[in-house]
Amino acid sequence: MKSMNGLQAAVQAAEDAAAWVRTYVPGYPITDLAAALQAEISVNEKVALEIALGASATGSRSLVIVKQVGMNILADPLVISATHTIGSGLVIISGDDLGPRGSQAEMDSRFYGPLTELPMLDPRSPAALHASILEGYTLSERLRIPVIVRVTARLLADQGPIVTARPGRGAAQQFEKESWDLTMRGRHQRHHDKILADAEETSESTTLNRLEISGNVGIIAGGCPAALAEGLGVSLLSVGYSNPLPAKLLHRFIDGHRLILIAEEPEPFIELHLALSPKVKGKLTGHLPRGPLERADIIRALESLEETPEKKPQVYESVAERGYAGICDDCPFVPLFRALAKVDVPVAGDAGCAIRTTREPYQSVDVVYGLGSSVGVASGFAKKGIAVVGDFALAHSGLQGLINAVWQKRYVLVILLKNDVAAMTGGQEAPDLTHLLEALVPTRRLELPGSEEVVEQVLREELKRSGASVVVALGKCTKHA
Ligand code: SF4
Repeated sequence: MKSMNGLQAAVQAAEDAAAWVRTYVPGYPITDLAAALQAEISVNEKVALEIALGASATGSRSLVIVKQVGMNILADPLVISATHTIGSGLVIISGDDLGPRGSQAEMDSRFYGPLTELPMLDPRSPAALHASILEGYTLSERLRIPVIVRVTARLLADQGPIVTARPGRGAAQQFEKESWDLTMRGRHQRHHDKILADAEETSESTTLNRLEISGNVGIIAGGCPAALAEGLGVSLLSVGYSNPLPAKLLHRFIDGHRLILIAEEPEPFIELHLALSPKVKGKLTGHLPRGPLERADIIRALESLEETPEKKPQVYESVAERGYAGICDDCPFVPLFRALAKVDVPVAGDAGCAIRTTREPYQSVDVVYGLGSSVGVASGFAKKGIAVVGDFALAHSGLQGLINAVWQKRYVLVILLKNDVAAMTGGQEAPDLTHLLEALVPTRRLELPGSEEVVEQVLREELKRSGASVVVALGKCTKHA
């Protein structure tokens, strides 16, 4: 092996750190990384983090791998863990999907740094990713807090020199119960006073920062754009932490230059902190586009840094332009999707294969608000409607919607697409919850593929029922058989 990509560097770092407890929830762009790490799949990101917190409290280093929207699911225990404190090192790898290819939102997970008041590292290269994960464990154990490392598809695929292995076990430290001597307010005061102050100093002095001085124009960059901005004949400050930002270093750099360009993606996160300075240009000023960046974007921005960019009408990317991946022609659920379009009731889908039936030629599903959301959403419809949920989405968070519907006597027909896999993310095994459903609500089974008329008849019969009920549509995914 002559070089190493970001994925391999992350695996090397997990080995070096002896982070043996590894949990994940599949999703673009982190599925391959989690597979390479041989991480254990969890039903959802909150559970994935909770397992890691338990491991940390009892002396094991742990690693959680999620996609960016998964950060929303684990946010609750994450926010609490900051002031609660932990035991052994805990690192969360958050995978941002820029110019989203496999997500419903182009969410910039760097905003979770200030929100959770936890350190967030934003590596620019495979070597920096390896170093960031190792630094994450050191920091996590010194400050007894989780540390977040942001990755992107480009960073995981980027090639770089082979990193030198730096094996080092943690101290197997356990959670210290003395924390309970403080009130929640007291813990927050300690967090600001000691923990964040230490993290701020670390972000100023870390070797993950890189500084090159050349001329009176400078670029401040984080993540992959820092690598894209190298060798452009201007000064470059590449920051290793997106939270806390190295404020003193940034201000010294700004003071020493006439004009500054902030290169980052997808949102103007660093720029928002520095925008008060009229020297600072970037996405907010229109010099760089929102979303992912290319080197050519940075070069163009440098050439027009002294000008006020003309606001051009934007052409929104269409599904036709990107290319529409519909459901597989031989999908066993095709008769169901066709029948759904015939019954005149609102249909909520989930972020599984059902989302591909929102458009022509099916138009079976009306709304999709994220993984596991369909049951809750459909039980809020003005009239009885249908929730289409995959078996992984049901286990992820859909089941809570059904429990709520039973509890609050809401009307909803749930169609469980039971193929025993998480088909959208690569065919990972999904848990079988049919016995649980049978204990909760009237449940019937429907073998697919089958006659569209029969499926339509079943839907119409079930829609006449009061309350909540489930149809378990059994089909074998032909793509992940
Ligand atoms: S991946 Fe499987 S479940 Fe999804 S559309 Fe294709 S055959 Fe159907």
